[in-house]
Order: sequence, then structure tokens, then C-alpha cells
Amino acid sequence: MENKAYFDKVKKYRTKRNFEKTTEPKGKSQKKTKTDQSIFVIQKHDASNIHFDFRLEVDGVLKSWAVPKGLSTDPSEKRLAMQTEDHPLDYADFEGYIPEENYGAGTVMIWDRGTYKNIRKEKDNISMKTSLEEGKVEVWLKGEKLSGGYVLIHTGKRGENQWLIKKMEDNQADARRNPVKTENKSVVTNRSMHKIKEEDKK
Ligand code: MN
Repeated sequence: MENKAYFDKVKKYRTKRNFEKTTEPKGKSQKKTKTDQSIFVIQKHDASNIHFDFRLEVDGVLKSWAVPKGLSTDPSEKRLAMQTEDHPLDYADFEGYIPEENYGAGTVMIWDRGTYKNIRKEKDNISMKTSLEEGKVEVWLKGEKLSGGYVLIHTGKRGENQWLIKKMEDNQADARRNPVKTENKSVVTNRSMHKIKEEDKK
């Protein structure tokens, strides 16, 4: 992708942040991911409210939703997902502490990550771009904590940022699991939220 187009995509991300004060990625240049498959990441973020940021690689950026309760493995549990600004791809590697008085100040943990497939592409040749425009996204995740199909449905009016996310009925669905509560260490560093704050807060 040419630089101008990329820069426009992450403009909102960049204007919200002061990169002299935060160690988050600047998003200046487009970083390629190491895998030829599209990646996803879920970052646990203890900001003004604790939430889980669910991000999917689409056309060179991370499409992002803040999910207050986190993703469930139980198909009967619908979870609110508020779409937020697109993030640069290298944000998927960010774990640490965003200093006070900065946008999103607080601890960020890489709670889960892996690759995903666009289910609608395989079924009906519908791209992620079209899925996002239509307000219906179906992805098959291959993470360390979460796997299987998830569906995101846009519920607000056009232009509003409110979606719902839920587990699809498949062999990875499990109503007995509650990974948001029981699996609370980083998949990259095995650190707790407390440990990340203690080590990375300057
Ligand atoms: Mn967040």
C-alpha cells in the first residue's frame, strides 16, 4: 500500500497520542506481519474502564473494537463491542504501561493472539472490507486461548460504533469455560496485569 493511503488510515490513531510520552508504536510506516496469514490480537487494557481490545488485521491495519466484558466461549453470551480507531499493525506487539494523562493511560497486556480466517470469504467470497461495510463479520480464530468462529454484528445506526460479538456454534464452543476470568496472564510474557504495571511503569 502506498504511504499516503496508509497514513490516512492511521491518522486518527496518531492524532490521539503524544509519542514523546507513550511507548506505543508510532504507526509511521506500515509494518508487515511475520506470517502470510491475517493476524488477530486481544489486548487486555486497564484504562479508565477495564476492557479487552479485539483487533483484526484488514488491508494493512488493525480494525479494532473495545469489548468491556471480553470475548466469551459460550454461544449464548452476546457481548457489546464498541468499534474504535484503526490501529497500526505493529500495535499487535504492544504490551506495557501507557503513562498517566495520556490517551488510554494504563496497563496493556497481550491477552491472546494468533491468526484468523474470514469465514464469509470461504462460504460466499465476501471480503472483510465488504463484511465491515455490511456490519456482519464472521471470523475463525486460531489463538492460544480462543479458537473457532466468532460473529460481529453492527447494531447501531450507520456510522455509529456499536456492535455485538458472540461465539458461533461449533466444536470450539464451550459454555463451561470462562477464559476472561480464569486465564489472565499474557500469552507473550506470561505476566499478570499487576506485574506488567510494576515492571513497565516508569
Ligand atoms: Mn483500549
